[in-house]
Amino acid sequence: MDFKPEICFVASEMYPFSKTGGLADVIGVLPLTLHKMGYNVCVITPFYGRIATSEFSPHLVYEDMKVGYPWPEISADVFRAKFYGMPVYFIDRGEYYDRRYYYCTYKGDYFDNCERFIFFCRAAMALMKKMGSPPKIVHSHDWHAALINSYIYYQKRHDPFWEDTATIFTIHNLAFQGRFSVRLFWDSGLPYEAWNMDGVEFYDSFNLLKGGIAHADLVTTVSPSYAGEILTPEFGCGLEGILQKRSTDLMGILNGADYNVWNPGKDKYLEANYTAKNLEGKFACKKDLIQNLCLSSRLMHRPVLGFIGRLRSQKGIDLLLEIIPELVKKDVGVAVLGEGDAEYEASLMNLVELYPDHVAGLVGYTEEMAHKIQAGTDIFLMPSRYEPCGLTQMYSLRYGTPPVATAVGGLKDTIVPYPNEKSTGFIFENSTSNDLLQAMEKALALFEDKDAWAKLQARGMKADFSWKRSAELYIKAYQSIGYDQIDSKNKDKKTSSSI
Ligand code: ADP
Repeated sequence: MDFKPEICFVASEMYPFSKTGGLADVIGVLPLTLHKMGYNVCVITPFYGRIATSEFSPHLVYEDMKVGYPWPEISADVFRAKFYGMPVYFIDRGEYYDRRYYYCTYKGDYFDNCERFIFFCRAAMALMKKMGSPPKIVHSHDWHAALINSYIYYQKRHDPFWEDTATIFTIHNLAFQGRFSVRLFWDSGLPYEAWNMDGVEFYDSFNLLKGGIAHADLVTTVSPSYAGEILTPEFGCGLEGILQKRSTDLMGILNGADYNVWNPGKDKYLEANYTAKNLEGKFACKKDLIQNLCLSSRLMHRPVLGFIGRLRSQKGIDLLLEIIPELVKKDVGVAVLGEGDAEYEASLMNLVELYPDHVAGLVGYTEEMAHKIQAGTDIFLMPSRYEPCGLTQMYSLRYGTPPVATAVGGLKDTIVPYPNEKSTGFIFENSTSNDLLQAMEKALALFEDKDAWAKLQARGMKADFSWKRSAELYIKAYQSIGYDQIDSKNKDKKTSSSI
C-alpha cells in the first residue's frame, strides 16, 4: 500500500458513512478540511453494515489482518474508500459491526461493546503497522477510540514503531465513558500497571475514556467553555480529578459547521433554497414543513419552534415537554425530531395527541427531516443541561432560525445573547422550565417586531463557524506535541500524487 498517513483519525462514526450525532459530523469534515489544507490525513472507522452500499464504494484492501485480540487471536478485513480524495479505512468484522444499531438497541447497550471497541482500537493499530510507517499523530475521539492512547502509551516502551508517534484525544461528550467490568481489563492486553486511579481504573470499573484522558499526549474538547466546565464536579462526570491533573495538557477547540452540508442556499433537502439576502425560500420551507407535519395552516402566521436531538435529559427535552401546553396557549407551533428515552418519547406522543394542530413529534432519525426543520421553523430550541459544543444551534443560526439555549458549554461560545446590538439568539441561565419559558417569551415578543427579528436572523446567518479556523487550531495543537508542519506539507505534496 503506497499511502503513508501522518495524521490518523480514529473514530467510531463518520458522516456520511455512519452517524448518531455530532461526532459523526465532526469526523466527516475536520479531517477533510486538513486534507484540503495539504496535510496528509486518513480516517479509520468501523465498517458498519450499511456502509457497503455507500456512494464512495469502499473496496477491500486487506483480508484477514491479524489483530492480536482477543485470545485466541481473530482477524479483521479492511476496506478503503476515497472521500473527496482523502482515504478512509473501514475495519470490518461482521459479528461486531454489521448490526442494526451502532451501540445499543431499545433494550440497552450491546453486551459486547467493550470487546467491539477494544477490537476496533487494536485493529486500527494493526492497520497503521501494515501501512508501514508510523503516523506522527494519532487523533482519537470519544470512549470508543480512547484505548488507542493507552495502548500506544505502553507500547512505546518496547516497540520502536510507536516511538515518534504523538497522541491526541478529543472528548465530544464526557458523560459517555465506556465503563466495563474489571474482567474486560484483563482481556484488553493492557499491562497491569494501567490499573490504577491515574490510569483506566475508575471505582473498580474499567473506564476506557479515562484511559484516553490519562494516556494521550494532549486532551482536547469541543469548546473552550466546556473545557473549563469539565474541571468542576458539576460537569466533570466524576472525572474532574484526572482532568484537573491533566489540565495543562487540556484545551477546548470549538467545533465548526460544515457549510457544504448545512447551507440553506444549496441544501438539497429543502423545498426552496434561500440566503441571508432573500428569505423568501424560508417561507416556502415553512409551508412545506407545516403541510408535511399536518400542523394547522394558521401557523404560517405564527412562530413555529424546532427541536432536533437525542430525547435525553442532557438535551433538556423534559423542560420543553413541560412548557408545550403553555406554548400552545400562545398559539405557537412546535416540531420535535428525535429519539431516546422511552418516557420522553411517550410524553411527546401524548402531547401530539392532545394538540395535533400545534405539535408534531417525529420519533426516529432522519437526516432529511433535520434539514427541513432547521429551515422551516422560526425559532430553534436547545435547552441542554450541558452541551460540549452543540452543532444544531450553529446550523440553526445559518438557517435564519435564531436559537433559544441554555448558558452552557458551546452554546455560550456560539450564541450572542439578546439584548445586544450583536445578538444572534437567546440564552437563559438555569435549566428550569420556568427559565426556558421566560426566554421563549422574550423571543416571541421580539418575533412580533418584524424588523428587529429580521436583523437578528441576518446576524445569525452571517456568523461564521466554518471549519478552517478550528482546523488551524488543531494543527497548532499537533505542533505543540511535536508535529512538524513544514516537513509534512512538503512530503504530502509528493505523497498525494500517488494516492
Ligand atoms: P450531539 O452530538 O450531542 O447529539 P450535536 O448538536 O452536536 O448533538 O449534533 C447532533 C447532530 O445529529 C446534528 O447533525 C443533528 O442534526 C443530528 N441529529 C440529532 N438527532 C437527530 C435525528 N433524530 N434525526 C436526524 N438528525 C439528528
